[in-house]
Amino acid sequence: MISIALDGPAGAGKSTLAKAAAKKLGFIYVDTGALYRAVGLKFKRQGYNTDLDCDIDSILKDTSVDIRFIGEEQHVFLDGEDVNSLIRTPEISMMASAVSAKPPVRSFLLELQRKLAREHNVIMDGRDIGTVVLPDATLKVFVTATPETRANRRYKELTDKGIDVNYDDILADIKTRDYNDSNRAIAPLKVAEGGIVFDTDNLDLSGALSALMEIIEKEVKM
Ligand code: C5P
Repeated sequence: MISIALDGPAGAGKSTLAKAAAKKLGFIYVDTGALYRAVGLKFKRQGYNTDLDCDIDSILKDTSVDIRFIGEEQHVFLDGEDVNSLIRTPEISMMASAVSAKPPVRSFLLELQRKLAREHNVIMDGRDIGTVVLPDATLKVFVTATPETRANRRYKELTDKGIDVNYDDILADIKTRDYNDSNRAIAPLKVAEGGIVFDTDNLDLSGALSALMEIIEKEVKM
């Protein structure tokens, strides 16, 4: 099986690029952030905030997270419920960032991610795919851009979906999440050994997709 790991900070364009590249290659696109978002939603529903002042293990024991592909689209199921439409809010972004720093949450989601890569040719996007989840991935790419470029993209993505958000709040969230994701003790966001850094700052979507496809064609023997 072929696995392509696409890691990088929030809003770098990973998911849009990964989805488009997977379609071209006929691979499955796995958005691992959605798994952390589903767990974040679970803790919010249990009444907790980002302090996570609770017994994490006992809540996880009572939690199931799964992915199903409906057509080409990934749907995340939390305790049997399709939660795709509930996990993209700024509040759940912050909850996802908080739960993702907890070791029991990371181990809870690890096997599901590895299983998907064992069974399918995948492009998997996340923070630690090349460093922890699939250290033997066929190709590891670290997608990045400045916080301002990323905040602009996220703002457009959310407003296009009709979600009411404020640019400054998004930029502040991105900087907080960058800090949390890069400085956490477990599986911090960093370039994997053997990873290729791919800066998308001055590229629009089609430019970035062509550049990514060039990297894949050069590095991966199909
Ligand atoms: O990619 P997305 O913004 O949906 O991810 C939500 C949060 O989940 C991130 O801020 C990050 O804290 C966490 N995450 C992670 N490891 C991954 C994917 C996401 O820690 N592989």
